[in-house]
Amino acid sequence: MKNNVTKITEKGMCVGCGSCGVCKHITFVNNELGFPAPVVDDTCESCGKCLIECIYNMDSD
Ligand code: SF4
Ligand code: SF4
Repeated sequence: MKNNVTKITEKGMCVGCGSCGVCKHITFVNNELGFPAPVVDDTCESCGKCLIECIYNMDSD
């Protein structure tokens, strides 16, 4: 898995706060519950900056 906020969304931890949206590789799309969730495109460089922004990043895999 790439080192980006998919680590958060795949755990169901994302609350759609928007903080990680600073990256051009992230867009927000409403999830099945109607809440915005980040979607990372295929050209993400795995820099991890979006994870630093996320309050739910516990730095664990
Ligand atoms: S390029 Fe960096 S900040 Fe952007 S989505 Fe990938 S890991 Fe996150
Ligand atoms: S920063 Fe974390 S909680 Fe906020 S939208 Fe991004 S992944 Fe979700």
